[in-house]
Amino acid sequence: MSLIIIGSVAFDAIETPFGKTDKIVGGAATYASLAASYFCKNVKIVGVVGEDFHQKDIDTLNQHGIDTTGLQIKAGEKSFFWSGKYHNDMNSRDTLVTELNVLADFDPILPESYQDCEYLMLGNLAPQTQQTVLKRLKNRPKLIVLDTMNFWMDVALTDLLETLKLVDVLTINDEEARQLSGEYSLVKAARKILTMGPKYLIIKKGEHGALLFHEDQIFSTPALPLAEVFDPTGAGDTFAGGFIGYLAKVNTINFNNMKNAIVFGSALASFCVEKFGTERIINLTEEEIAARVKEFVNLSSFNIA
Ligand code: AMP
Repeated sequence: MSLIIIGSVAFDAIETPFGKTDKIVGGAATYASLAASYFCKNVKIVGVVGEDFHQKDIDTLNQHGIDTTGLQIKAGEKSFFWSGKYHNDMNSRDTLVTELNVLADFDPILPESYQDCEYLMLGNLAPQTQQTVLKRLKNRPKLIVLDTMNFWMDVALTDLLETLKLVDVLTINDEEARQLSGEYSLVKAARKILTMGPKYLIIKKGEHGALLFHEDQIFSTPALPLAEVFDPTGAGDTFAGGFIGYLAKVNTINFNNMKNAIVFGSALASFCVEKFGTERIINLTEEEIAARVKEFVNLSSFNIA
């Protein structure tokens, strides 16, 4: 099944209590597509970079079977740049720099070869840009997952509410769910958000795992308790990529497969945080992923006689 992932392809500079990087490759679409590539052999990116982007980083995506035909390279322009610094608890971070550069007037191009897409991940970008992608697809994909953040709730709420009506799954974190719904209880927040358009809602709770809501059903998965979280950058995007990549692989949308997809997404995210940037998720093996998923199963399964 083919899967389109739209989002930022970027340079990041990251500072954590464990160290500091210069500009390294990052971006929501980079993390999500790498994660998805472990499940789906037909992943296609839509994004934009400047001429400062390195061919070797595009080659890495291609080596994972990721189609970059929809990745525009803008001559004479600079790639999106983001810099963040994590606090000691690794749960909170300060954004130090956001240079939109090529993202400022990003006009997503969907090559003809992308038109048969059945799964679509609308990564965290302006809701208007996300809508443009939907308008440019001749057929509605079988499943549309949308990721967004508090920034868009602050500056483009009306557009975001319009976009929400068009998607099947929304992934946001707990704070964002509270902001979007105006409810503190995540159960009440989910009930409200499920009336805004998406049929499924995933609330990410960082080191406390994730919740899946659909109609009256709720599923909870933990995050893997890790002795050391090295760099949480991209964990949410990696989660989303693993989630939709798994669904594209099994190609049947139901609550049970969504539950499994959340566990696979969480497993991929648990690798992501073990090293800086994309380092850990660029060369995973199937055995490592299977073993990690088993750890998740063991972590939360029990029998009551
Ligand atoms: P996450 O840690 O899941 O929030 O994702 C981090 C990634 O998102 C980094 O690699 C950044 O390049 C990218 N990013 C940060 N801010 C933005 C933004 N405003 N728009 C698009 N991508 C962003």
